[in-house]
Amino acid sequence: MSRVTNGWGQRGSAAATIAARLTFENLTRKFDDKYALRGVSLDIEPAETMCLLGPSGCGKTTLLRIAAGIEWPDAGRVLFNHQEVVGPNVFVPPEKRGIGLMFQDFALFPHLSIVKNVMFGLRMLEPAQAHRVAMAALVRVGLEAYAEDYPHVLSGGQQQRVALARAIAPRPSVMFMDEPFSGLDPRLRDHMREETMAILKEMRATSVIVTHQAEEAMRMGDRIAVMRGGRVLQVGTSEDIYNHPNSLFVARVFSEMNEMDCRAVGGYVDTVFGKFEVPKTITSDDVTVGVRFRALSLNEQGMGVPGRVIDRKFLGDAALIEIVVNGLDTPLKVRLRENLAPLTGEEIFVELDKDKALILESDD
Ligand code: ATP
Repeated sequence: MSRVTNGWGQRGSAAATIAARLTFENLTRKFDDKYALRGVSLDIEPAETMCLLGPSGCGKTTLLRIAAGIEWPDAGRVLFNHQEVVGPNVFVPPEKRGIGLMFQDFALFPHLSIVKNVMFGLRMLEPAQAHRVAMAALVRVGLEAYAEDYPHVLSGGQQQRVALARAIAPRPSVMFMDEPFSGLDPRLRDHMREETMAILKEMRATSVIVTHQAEEAMRMGDRIAVMRGGRVLQVGTSEDIYNHPNSLFVARVFSEMNEMDCRAVGGYVDTVFGKFEVPKTITSDDVTVGVRFRALSLNEQGMGVPGRVIDRKFLGDAALIEIVVNGLDTPLKVRLRENLAPLTGEEIFVELDKDKALILESDD
């Protein structure tokens, strides 16, 4: 069998692309009287993977569509390598931007063979070359044997791979992906996610990936931009944002928490776990102390806050226990190693790793 090279490497590895810096400046978009974006600015480094994370309707897709050239902003600019591609007087059409697109409904053409589907993004090449490049992209995603078949013979995961091959075949310098794996079952999703990330990193493509799952964003993003109501609330590495969320909303996006609503007095809040200083950045007196389930542990020596276990859920390696504590209306949730977790009805003492408490302004 002859080897397929064509810039994709002899073993089907993706050749490097010239990575692009992507800049969003103050992008605003209104639909009727409702803002989808309210002045979004973001700078994405060459070859970086940025995940846009947020709940439904926060503007992630609109931002991606504007960057890809299939939607227009009312105001603001988009720059690729400092060159304006969208601005008050500039609009570079999508096909001239050197981008790859992969959306949730990746819609392969049913009447075209797999290789022809991949060739669709290569219309600028003459047919024989387009065919070689498409075959090389299929080799990269492990589907070259299906080149002459039609999409309906492929499983969902394989079809997703074809969509990926189609997006990467032109070797775009920027990739935009909107919830690309949400149609797949969890095991396949993990696999596709890893495979896709490996390809994006080999290509050195700058990537923007939309997701509403924090775990997916943490797995894929070099950095994450958390969005809400058409705004970017916080941008950073997953570790930064997880450990230092700048709002209760951002903290909640990353995990469930125990939340203790408090009133600040003299710059401090008082909780069953003692006093906490309120950061100067918080101006409101309504403060929430957020405590993730793993920030709590049990103390065998009788130190800490006394409580009683009222529920215990088996989660495989871990157990989630609920503890009623005097002075708190809501039971505390604690995640422990399964073999260390007490039984329902046991009297225990709960301890908080105070460094892990998140002191945040309350959110209505
Ligand atoms: P999801 O995760 O559900 O896709 P999202 O964060 O991607 O949500 P967008 O699709 O960008 O959010 O939508 C942001 C807001 O703009 C929503 O309120 C949506 O209803 C509105 N919107 C988006 N596109 C249009 C449109 N073409 N016409 C009218 N309203 C729109």
